[in-house]
Amino acid sequence: MKRSPGRIAGFALKHLLKKPATIAYPAAKLEIEPHYRGKIQYNADDCIGCNLCVRDCPASAISIVNVGTKEEKKFECHLNLGHCIFCAQCVDSCRKGCLSFTPNIELADMSREALKVKL
Ligand code: SF4
Ligand code: SF4
Repeated sequence: MKRSPGRIAGFALKHLLKKPATIAYPAAKLEIEPHYRGKIQYNADDCIGCNLCVRDCPASAISIVNVGTKEEKKFECHLNLGHCIFCAQCVDSCRKGCLSFTPNIELADMSREALKVKL
């Protein structure tokens, strides 16, 4: 199809006036879709320390640590964000519903150590 300079200018002008398809992140806020798999959150109150999440994690990114006594168990969840592939397997595996995703995707850091977090 032959394009005249006038048609091309019109086409360019039309696109100049259109809202851009991209946003100037991080200056503009990202809109995260519902159910997006960002950083995991953990509810220690319902955790029974069964370790199903740890067993099923394909990236060995998660660990559950008993920081209480043998009788009075109290669990902490440790996550290595540098290893996590955000696959949701741990969320599916937890029968107590202790793990869920948040829309937090701003997880970058300057050191590998800083990516090892307690949830
Ligand atoms: S989302 Fe996947 S990779 Fe990340 S901790 Fe859960 S099971 Fe492991
Ligand atoms: S699967 Fe759920 S209940 Fe079991 S250790 Fe993991 S977070 Fe706790």
